[in-house]
Amino acid sequence: MLDFPGRTACIVWLAACNMRCGYCHNPQIVLGKGTISTDAVLAFLQRRRGLLHGVVLSGGEATAWPGLIDFTARVKAWGFAIKLDTNGLRPDVVEHLLGRGLVDYIALDYKAPQHRFVAVTGTTAYRRFSRTLDLLCAQNAVPFEARTTIHDALMDEADIITIASDLHRRGYRGDYALQPAITGRDRPTLGALPPQMKEWDLARLQARSPVKLQIRQP
Ligand code: SF4
Repeated sequence: MLDFPGRTACIVWLAACNMRCGYCHNPQIVLGKGTISTDAVLAFLQRRRGLLHGVVLSGGEATAWPGLIDFTARVKAWGFAIKLDTNGLRPDVVEHLLGRGLVDYIALDYKAPQHRFVAVTGTTAYRRFSRTLDLLCAQNAVPFEARTTIHDALMDEADIITIASDLHRRGYRGDYALQPAITGRDRPTLGALPPQMKEWDLARLQARSPVKLQIRQP
């Protein structure tokens, strides 16, 4: 009821990821090989045609799965709306999905500004992310949202304003969602981050941001 705006949906978490974010609370998905076969997921969805409205493709990183486009085409043909959650490292896959009308909503994680991208994501692929962001800002066929998971050991307020300003410069006019990371002894994460100490001050950030901010509790 929460993950796909306006639709009841199931979430399919695709195993594996092309990033290594320290705050990631899905290490079993990122490092694992998956627990359910594609056929089992398809059978699940086939039984729910007309009952569920949408399917959220998440992960891990959904676009890193080679079977994504065929899977999405099949599920879309059954009448499901598709939401893609992506970290933006596969602009080619996003472009293909958009070009074939296989996706109805995209949530793009803007992980960090360029100077912090390696520290936050463990990858040097900011340019690929940047291509996806430009692609999404340039199209208006599909609604998309930009969002960032924030942890005070990795980013500060100036970094968030850098992202917000970059979004605005590229033409993004939607809300920009900030999700404080949850770390702690009872929440296994990919990296050994300390617990988040900061109370993020939305009003102070909003006063400096050219796009509208939302704090989302995870
Ligand atoms: S938080 Fe980072 S490592 Fe975890 S699934 Fe998302 S992109 Fe991958």
